[in-house]
Amino acid sequence: MPAAGSGARFGGPKLWADLSGQPVLAWVLQALGDPTSGVDELVVVTDLREHRRVMELASSAAPRLGCRCVEGGARRQDSVFRGLGLCTREMVLVHDGARPGVTSELCAKVLRAARDVGAATACVPVADSTAVVRSGRLEEVLPRADLAAIQTPQAFRRDLLMRAHQAATAARLDADDDAALVLALGEPVATVLGDPCNLKVTRTEDILALRSWLGNGAWARQ
Ligand code: C5P
Repeated sequence: MPAAGSGARFGGPKLWADLSGQPVLAWVLQALGDPTSGVDELVVVTDLREHRRVMELASSAAPRLGCRCVEGGARRQDSVFRGLGLCTREMVLVHDGARPGVTSELCAKVLRAARDVGAATACVPVADSTAVVRSGRLEEVLPRADLAAIQTPQAFRRDLLMRAHQAATAARLDADDDAALVLALGEPVATVLGDPCNLKVTRTEDILALRSWLGNGAWARQ
């Protein structure tokens, strides 16, 4: 779980923001900790100063998983690579600590797809028209029917993800997510229908949206 972002756009650490009575991180841990998620070990990549607090929360919210922590890197990509070094299973699920709307079912679906193909990601269709914008000008409007917004969870065969990270380091490739690194190797990545409620907490408004979804019971959680 990459969770070492500075939260600059949020104005502070998102992991501990209150979301209907518990921190954002607790929601993620509960989903991963559910036995139906298919997850059975947990590595959280986060700031060194957070390790004790994360381990304490994990021991109550996901006691089954035996959490370990490792310090993050400058980019998300560096953080994932550090965490990967501690993972021991044949399959790895990567999930952002800042996405509390994840469910155990979505984790299990993504893992199943990755077992078949080698790599898989949750995606949601894009509702708005989407464009390439440079210097405040539209450069190209992209055909919406072909577009999807990429979420985590993403799952991979561990050896494939390790190879993708090593190749990215050698080629000085920067990517926003791990599926992009696998794609850069020329390997296929399966898609699984994600969930609009699985949004990444980026700005304070995102917490408000998540609170109202939870409050309305529109989002059934195991
Ligand atoms: O920055 P971004 O929105 O891509 O962050 C996605 C996830 O990656 C967040 O959970 C954040 O904490 C994590 N991250 C990280 N290390 C970084 C930057 C982001 O673990 N250097």
